[in-house]
Amino acid sequence: MLGKGATSVVYLAEETSSGRRYAVKTSAREREKLRREAFLLQQIRCPGIPDMVELLEDETKSFLVMEYVNGKSIGQRMRAGERFSRREILKTGIAVSGILCYLHAQHPPVFYRDLKPDNVMITKQGKVFLVDFGSAGTEETGVEVRYGTRGYAAPEQYEGKCDARSDLYAFGALLTAMAKHAKKQQKKDLQQMLEKCRKKKPEERYPSAKEVKKALQRLERKRAGGKITGIFIVLLFLIGGAFALDGRLQREWVPAAEKWEEQGDFWFCGNPVEEGSLPNYQKAKEAFLRAEYLSRTGKVEQKLVEYCLADDTAREETQLEFLLAEFYDDTQKEMEKEKRCRRYLAIAGMYFSFSEELTRESGTNGVEKGIEVLKKAEEEEREDSWNGVIWQRLADACYLCGKSGDSEREQDWCRESYQYYEMLLSFNTENGNRRKNLLRAAELALQFETPAKAEQYLNEAAELPGTEENVFYQQIRRRWEEAK
Ligand code: ADP
Ligand code: MG
Repeated sequence: MLGKGATSVVYLAEETSSGRRYAVKTSAREREKLRREAFLLQQIRCPGIPDMVELLEDETKSFLVMEYVNGKSIGQRMRAGERFSRREILKTGIAVSGILCYLHAQHPPVFYRDLKPDNVMITKQGKVFLVDFGSAGTEETGVEVRYGTRGYAAPEQYEGKCDARSDLYAFGALLTAMAKHAKKQQKKDLQQMLEKCRKKKPEERYPSAKEVKKALQRLERKRAGGKITGIFIVLLFLIGGAFALDGRLQREWVPAAEKWEEQGDFWFCGNPVEEGSLPNYQKAKEAFLRAEYLSRTGKVEQKLVEYCLADDTAREETQLEFLLAEFYDDTQKEMEKEKRCRRYLAIAGMYFSFSEELTRESGTNGVEKGIEVLKKAEEEEREDSWNGVIWQRLADACYLCGKSGDSEREQDWCRESYQYYEMLLSFNTENGNRRKNLLRAAELALQFETPAKAEQYLNEAAELPGTEENVFYQQIRRRWEEAK
């Protein structure tokens, strides 16, 4: 048995065939509630919420099979007399408020309604899970909302009312309980923040889980950054200056770069070193650029874009497309060829990765934009190690455009991708993609009515081990036989 709640028991089960482990929840009395829980879980998928596997039923009982969380609940740990560190309290708070953000952002919003130490689990690796969706639901009023647990449920829940802010009240109570079981007395800043969550009147609390998460992130930055003193920053400048003279050493001095990365993080969330200062994305970017190892690999951009995706406000203020365009510009001005090439590849990769977002937000075709950037890289005169990489990406991206089904220029894209595949094949660039390249070239050769070419590519592919069983190979071979 893994645990026991007010109305249910949760068992650990192992699937004999695969050895995979699951948590199985069953309830003797409240079958309907368990069914509702299953129904809700089925619709949500979020890291930090166990994935629902299935609902098994017989005449008398229902069993909810879900992802097994290998950890302990905060309640269990409290009862065992464990003490929490500030870091763990903040980390748990950030994770739980993040899950609440996700739930409240559903259409219609999902309210969790029973946040408390027994329903939050932490694994050995420190991953936080919200379990028990038995009280969760979408209704704002009615008998339904009389869920919750005394001491954690918001005052309005006793009157049958509930909204997102009710979850914030319980959230405040949860973290307050953790703070009471902390290793050290918690500082005032956290206490104040939690008091605000637990205001009696919902309108006096934080307006949303997102605000709560941000407040906690600020505290976390402050905790992590507490070690950086002014002296250290001065030192950093001196070291930075000395190292500029010796590129060799610079590469070995990763800690300095890490500190710049940390500085960037600070600016991104509002710099706690200067109390009360607001996030400044420009400063964040400058700091990231100073972390030389990040900029060398094109990681700065990636980091910023990732941040933008994780944080909606930053996203609105920064604008993904603008950010990418700016880095594209910057890169064109970059003096060093090698660096320029790497950056082009990174930027194109980002256009590809975020093409869905870009289409949604501004109707930009990210794949086409990525191709444009790759072609810039292709124009560079290079010693050949790069050609294989760039051609491969161009071939695949053009192929994607050609087969996307919604571009007027499909035929052109296919022709271009065919050229790149042929180039890759004739230069015999061995990069682990040979079979794919041969099959795509064969497919395109058929499309452009050159079956002799297709045959040549198919035969060559057939010589590679494992090709005969490849379904794409079989498909294209069949088409070739029909065409000849
Ligand atoms: P109830 O609805 O009766 O409160 P819960 O869903 O909270 O039941 O489950 C009871 C206990 O079982 C939890 O406190 C937790 O310790 C454990 N538990 C619940 N779900 C899982 C899971 N997916 N993996 C591991 N343990 C779980
Ligand atoms: Mg429970």
